[in-house]
Amino acid sequence: MKRIITNEEVEKKCYDICGNIRDGGNFYGVPRGGIAPAYLLAGICKGGVVNRPAEADYIIDDLIDSGSTRDRYTKLYPTTPFIALFEKTDPMEWLVFPWEVTEQGHDTSAEDIPSRFLEFIGEDLNRDGLKETPKRMIKAWKEIFSGYEQNPSDVIKTFESDGYDQIVLLRDIELYSMCEHHALPFVGRAHVAYIPGGKVIGISKLARLIDIFSKRLQIQERIGDQVTSILMNELNAQGAACIIEADHFCIRMRGVGKQHSTMVTSSMKGVFLTKPEARSELLSLIRT
Ligand code: ZN
Repeated sequence: MKRIITNEEVEKKCYDICGNIRDGGNFYGVPRGGIAPAYLLAGICKGGVVNRPAEADYIIDDLIDSGSTRDRYTKLYPTTPFIALFEKTDPMEWLVFPWEVTEQGHDTSAEDIPSRFLEFIGEDLNRDGLKETPKRMIKAWKEIFSGYEQNPSDVIKTFESDGYDQIVLLRDIELYSMCEHHALPFVGRAHVAYIPGGKVIGISKLARLIDIFSKRLQIQERIGDQVTSILMNELNAQGAACIIEADHFCIRMRGVGKQHSTMVTSSMKGVFLTKPEARSELLSLIRT
């Protein structure tokens, strides 16, 4: 979740840091996030800013995120302290620094990412067609990855099954997801089934579950497993199944010569796993 850090918070952190180090050192800011904090600290601690980490008394970053930047610098410069203004405690938190917000209050911290990406692939950010592209990419990502903000348990509203204990199946649910290895789409369809153990849910909710789990970085196998797990756990189903057929663009677009292959995965739980009759009845229902 997004948290906007205030100027006051940043200032307080800088004073805290300066209270713990001697005055007048040389600060190196790790590009790009550490540069602003290095100047702030140099001002408060009456020190200087240097352009090379080897000349620094302190290496400064804005944030310790995964810790990989800190590890890289402490390996290269083991005797130079690495100091970050903030350390992330929640991996899902998105911290926005005051210098990433324009005077009009517009947060540019996210748009920086697609902008850098466009530069990286060799694009000219100033050409007409790309003027609004970073903004549009953020909007598209929010939609494609909206599953992170939804709790699948919220869609499970159950009703009494009134004794119905046969297969409930929703076939051919459209599926759009993004593979977690390449962040490229995989698209296909899913078939979701369960055998009630006293409770049922609205049939459209099976499609909603596919949607919520698909709109994240995923692997196909996991989507099926997450859907069947929630049906087993929250519905107390006797059995649950999720069969997915999908085309992976990381295979199609990268030309490894398997452009026309489809991946099929199946997650079966409960009676679909233990009773061959239940499984073969399901498979014939899917094929009819
Ligand atoms: Zn992939």
